[in-house]
Amino acid sequence: MAEEWYVDGLRFQCTQCGNCCTGPEGAVWFTEEEGRRMAEFLGLDEATFLRRHARRLTSGWSLKERKTVHGFDCVFLDRDSVPGKAVCGLYDARPTQCRTWPFWKENIESPEAWEASRRDTPCPGMGKGALVPVEAIRIQRDALS
Ligand code: SF4
Repeated sequence: MAEEWYVDGLRFQCTQCGNCCTGPEGAVWFTEEEGRRMAEFLGLDEATFLRRHARRLTSGWSLKERKTVHGFDCVFLDRDSVPGKAVCGLYDARPTQCRTWPFWKENIESPEAWEASRRDTPCPGMGKGALVPVEAIRIQRDALS
């Protein structure tokens, strides 16, 4: 297999701008196991968690979104607690989709895809900060299959 173009790693450091947690209407996918973990984190039973915070789509479960001036924010995106920042309200229990950003297969399939995602999200953390080694990138890339 040819070596990945990012074999020397990629730079990424989240600035907590919240851009990847908003935008056009979409889905924040989670598995049933992740749903149980989020419910527990919030001190809710699973049924209450799903009713309040999730919606069932054809392909699976998604967190709800909330329309704001920024776009469709994930329902757990908190723009109020930390001045100038947008933070995740369930960071330690967040789903794999969120945990592995920006190292999704489609974002790293080529340097052009990486650049397009950095520009279009826009994600100011991509290409900045600490060097993430290829081994860590692979783990995150392959976590969503
Ligand atoms: S868009 Fe990038 S910098 Fe902004 S919150 Fe998401 S990961 Fe962090």
